[in-house]
Amino acid sequence: MRPLQAWWPTIQQRIMSARHVILCCDFDGTLAPIVDRPSRARLPARTKRLLKRLVDLPRLRVVLVSGRALRDLKRMVGVRGFYYIGNHGLELQGPNLRYVNPVARARRPLLKRAAGKFKAALRPIPGAWVEEKGLTLSVHWRAVPRSAQRTFHKLLKALIAPYLKRGVMRLTRGKRVVEIRPAVDWDKGMVVDWLLTRIAGRHASTRYWITYLGDDQTDEDAFRMVNRLGGTSVFVGDPRRRTAARYWLKDPHAVHRWLAALERWKRWHSSKGPCRGPHRP
Ligand SMILES: [Mg+2]
Repeated sequence: MRPLQAWWPTIQQRIMSARHVILCCDFDGTLAPIVDRPSRARLPARTKRLLKRLVDLPRLRVVLVSGRALRDLKRMVGVRGFYYIGNHGLELQGPNLRYVNPVARARRPLLKRAAGKFKAALRPIPGAWVEEKGLTLSVHWRAVPRSAQRTFHKLLKALIAPYLKRGVMRLTRGKRVVEIRPAVDWDKGMVVDWLLTRIAGRHASTRYWITYLGDDQTDEDAFRMVNRLGGTSVFVGDPRRRTAARYWLKDPHAVHRWLAALERWKRWHSSKGPCRGPHRP
């Protein structure tokens, strides 16, 4: 992985020649710092202002991607004109577009019943809690004391086993959270590709520049897809991590600084025509 800043001159070139610029950002850990409880996460006010300026730019689309439920994500960000992708890609809403994965929709009742079982079984574990997100579940264990973590993982494994065996659900591990999703062949990468086709039309690499910034395991699907599409994949976090992303930024502060530089440069370029701008990240 290389620091994203080193790629800046190439990005300027790509933006200049692209008809569409598509900026995809994960939410928690990428734009908003990670906090103990997801409900306490906040998009920094300056980042929100920056995102509003970005979406005003011509031929630039902002896509917010998250494992949160779509409704929750929209409430957290609250900016019009974005594309919002919730539940790891299973639902999407944006200007003139709407999508819900049909298989995931059909499995809602099954997931609801599973949530009831999980909640009851995990009640004795201090700090463990089940978040129902409509199309998926998150089992959080950030607050589980070390002494109870073994029991927690054992119990959860036993709870999920019958669903995995039947092939109706799948499991991914995030930052002290276990994500339980319906087993459908659909992920953050596939939804990004789906959206790109609708925004930019057929895949001709000169027509668009796409970038994806994310910090977690479920973002890996999107990194691989963006690499395949000739875009720029950016991991946010420790550069020693094994990831499909080709570039990295340290944390949400670095993401903000980089997006701010991009915004200034794109604005300058949109008003002055195709020459090199004065701003570097
Ligand atoms: Mg994240």
